[in-house]
Amino acid sequence: MSKFVPATRVSRIKSSASVAAAARVRELKAEGRRILDLTVGEPDFDTPDHIKAAAVEAISKGETKYTSVTGTPELQKAILQTIELRTGLHYTPAELTIGGGAKQVIFTAFMASIDAGDEVIVPAPFWVSYPDMVLANDGTPVVVPCGEDVGFKLTPDALAGALTDRTKWVILNTPSNPTGAVYSPVELRALADVLAGYPHVYVLTDEIYDQIYFGGGRLPSLVEVAPGLKDRVLVVNGVSKAYAMTGWRLGYAAGPAPLIAAINKLQSQISSCPSSVSQAASAAALTGDQGFVRDSVEIYRSRRDAAVAGLNAVDGLSCATPEGAFYAYVNCAGAIGKTTPEGATIHDDQDFVLYLLDHASVAAIPGSAYGLGPYFRISYATSLDIIEESIAAIDKAVQALS
Ligand code: PLP
Repeated sequence: MSKFVPATRVSRIKSSASVAAAARVRELKAEGRRILDLTVGEPDFDTPDHIKAAAVEAISKGETKYTSVTGTPELQKAILQTIELRTGLHYTPAELTIGGGAKQVIFTAFMASIDAGDEVIVPAPFWVSYPDMVLANDGTPVVVPCGEDVGFKLTPDALAGALTDRTKWVILNTPSNPTGAVYSPVELRALADVLAGYPHVYVLTDEIYDQIYFGGGRLPSLVEVAPGLKDRVLVVNGVSKAYAMTGWRLGYAAGPAPLIAAINKLQSQISSCPSSVSQAASAAALTGDQGFVRDSVEIYRSRRDAAVAGLNAVDGLSCATPEGAFYAYVNCAGAIGKTTPEGATIHDDQDFVLYLLDHASVAAIPGSAYGLGPYFRISYATSLDIIEESIAAIDKAVQALS
C-alpha cells in the first residue's frame, strides 16, 4: 500500500489547540476521572427554543435544498440590519458573505486574498486559528506580542513597527479570545490613523463576541470609528457565541464588494452555500427576541466577577478583568520555576497546566497556544459552582508548590 503524503500546506499547520484540549478532557472523562473543565470555547446554554422552532419549521416547509451561494434573502436582510444596528454603517447584499461559521469565513477570506509571501499581522495573544489559517493559505503570520502592560492590545507603535510593503492584513479581535480585551474608540482611532498611511493593507475585525460585552452600550467598532476605512475592513461575526449556536455553523462577514465577490466565488466551489436550515434558524436568532442574549451576558458577568476575584486571591496568580467574551487570561509567572510535590520543576505555562490537570483535576489551556506566556486561559462558560470549585482546587495546587 502506498504511503499517504499530505500536501505541504498541511504539514505547515497544527490542529487547533482548543480542539485538542477538549479531546484530552473527553479522554480523561472516559477513563472515569472527574475533570473540572475550563477549556470550553462555547456557551454552556442550550440554543433558545424559538430558534430551534424556526429550524423545525424550515424543515417542515421543505427549505432543505441548496440556497444561493450568498444566502437566503431573509437571512441577508437580518444580517444587514444587525450590522447596521451594531456599526451604524449601511452595507448592501454585494458587501456580505455568509458561510459555515466565522471560522470558515475567515479561512475563505484569506484564501481569496493571500498570495505566497504576503504578511498578516497577528497581535498576540491570538485566537489559536489565525496563524495556522494564514500558513495554510501560503501567507506569513507576523506575530506582534501585546503584553499585559498594554492591556493585551495592539498599540499604534507596535502596528507601525510591523507594517511592511508585504502586509496584506491586520487582524483585530475584539472582544478577544483569549483575553476578553476590548479596543476602545480612542484606541481604534489611533490604529486607524496609522493605517491611513498604508492604503494597501486590509483589516479583519473579528467581532464574534461583540454581544458578550460588559462595557454597557454597544461594542466600539473600527468601521464606526473610522468609516473612511470601510472599503478595506472585513467585519466578521456569526451566531455561534451570542445565541449558543456553535453547532449550527453559521458565520458572516461584511466588507468591500470585490473582496466579498472573491470569497463567494471560492465558496461556490467549496460548500455551495451554508446549511439552509441553519440559515432559517439564524434569521430567527437575529430578528427574534433578544432576551436570551441580555440574560446570558448578565450570567457571564457574574461568573466573570467571581472568577477574577477568586483567581486574584490565589497567591502566585493574577488576572486582568476581561471586558467581554467568556475567557480570562491568567498570569502564572509566580508559579514558574517552582517545584511540584513530586520534585518536578514548572518550567513554563504548559508544565503548569499539566500540573493543574494532574493535581487539581482542572483543565485549562496554556498561554503558549495563544502566543504569549506565561499565562493560561480559562473559560467561564460553565456554572458558578464549577468555577468556584476549580478556583479552590487551583489555589490548593498552587500553594503545594515550593
Ligand atoms: N473567532 C474567534 C475569536 C473565536 O473564538 C471563534 C470560536 O472559538 C471563532 C472566530 C469561530 O466561530 P464560529 O463558530 O462562527 O466558526
